[in-house]
Amino acid sequence: MRQLRRFNNLAVTTPVGTPDFNERKTVLIVGYGISGVSAYKFLSSRGHNVLAVDDSNPTDAPNTMSDIRWDDINIVVKSPSVPIMPHNRHHSVSHAMGLQIPVISTFDVFRLHNPNAKIVAVTGTNGKSTTTSLIFHILHEAGVSVQIGGNIGIPYFDMGPAEYYVLEMSSYELASSQLLDFQIACILNIDPDHYEFHGTFEDYISAKHAALDNASSKIVSCEDRYTMSKFSAAQDVTVVSTLNNPNADVYVHENTLRDRESQRLLLDFAGISNLLGSHNHQNIAMAYAVCRKLDVSPQEIVKSIGSFKPLPHRMNIVERIGNIIFVNDSKATNPSSAAKALATFVGYEIYWLVGGRSKSIDPLPYVNDYLAGVRKVYSFGESEYEFEDVFNGRKPTIKCGTMDSALSLAYKDAKREHGQAVILLSPMCSSFDQFKNYAHRGEQFTKMVLTLKECSGD
Ligand code: ADP
Repeated sequence: MRQLRRFNNLAVTTPVGTPDFNERKTVLIVGYGISGVSAYKFLSSRGHNVLAVDDSNPTDAPNTMSDIRWDDINIVVKSPSVPIMPHNRHHSVSHAMGLQIPVISTFDVFRLHNPNAKIVAVTGTNGKSTTTSLIFHILHEAGVSVQIGGNIGIPYFDMGPAEYYVLEMSSYELASSQLLDFQIACILNIDPDHYEFHGTFEDYISAKHAALDNASSKIVSCEDRYTMSKFSAAQDVTVVSTLNNPNADVYVHENTLRDRESQRLLLDFAGISNLLGSHNHQNIAMAYAVCRKLDVSPQEIVKSIGSFKPLPHRMNIVERIGNIIFVNDSKATNPSSAAKALATFVGYEIYWLVGGRSKSIDPLPYVNDYLAGVRKVYSFGESEYEFEDVFNGRKPTIKCGTMDSALSLAYKDAKREHGQAVILLSPMCSSFDQFKNYAHRGEQFTKMVLTLKECSGD
């Protein structure tokens, strides 16, 4: 295993050494969400004395800060979303660092208990969950002993034993981990996101790049200039292109997938209905490159792509009422992912639902090219005024307060349409102002659409 590395940008003045769990330790877990709960159970079951606190959900956590006797704490384990960067470091992380107590991530805990695990790490701004699931599906179908986990919502400690672990790695976890060590790592794409955690775009990029820095085999996207400029000449780099670059190892050419090795047509996207849109071509190309590295045959890969079941809340067609289709893309939480949805519906009259908690990213550079097809924008949530300003003078924009009223108004308007119309929830924002998470938002949207369908008698 590689040496303990310092946190990105963390001013750790004195190295604290690699922590271990060889003897009984007193461990403080900061953040008691899905990852924290799983780490708590895992470490408790191994006989450690485990405490856990959570600022945002104090009543759910087993302890409060007043229970913590810092002199007794040997290791702090932080959940992925607990901030660690200098501009917003969590007070318990700062406190532990001041006392020279090692602060590690939940990934580090997994790594320390599985030093020989072969890990495929998937990261990028968009497409991580889809690509992670697709790689897992292909490997599983090929008979490889494999588990899936990480940011996809399956904590490391809930995975069973396996030869390979396909892990979705968020930038939070990459920035917080000290024991990154991957057999293969891939970055799908990099676009602005998560300023609130990282502080700057540069720090976000370096968190993503930490995956490749610590991987034996690296797979990058030709169109990702931030990554290409640093890694294109590195050892054992595989390049994937969605823009017909025949010098790439795997590339998309006229709606087909090809590789440089054979120059043959591997897959015709025209026959793929479960992964729509050119962004999914990137996910498929990346999954193909990863699985070839692990010696799955092209035929097996292509067959498994066809049987892949798409994940919910990503460009899912929920219903059709007359000439209107309703699309749930609640997971589009930044402008670059929403732009992919707009691009997929070129030729439709688009009634676009946007809003939620703002990411403070100007959407225009991403969506401008696709605004011609947008008939009207319906904004809701905390960011409704922001979007009214952004689209003002470009597209009719209406503030709706809630997603429910946005959907009702969009439906009323779209019903007057004679051509093909799409009501698209692709909100470019996180959901936490009005929903538990993106899935809750997507479920609410789906429920309302089904009610509209029932009432329509269609
Ligand atoms: P992540 O886990 O990175 O958030 P998902 O697979 O859950 O990625 O998809 C999130 C959103 O991004 C969805 O709206 C989806 O349609 C869109 N998306 C998926 N793959 C890509 C890609 N390669 N490039 C841009 N957007 C994508």
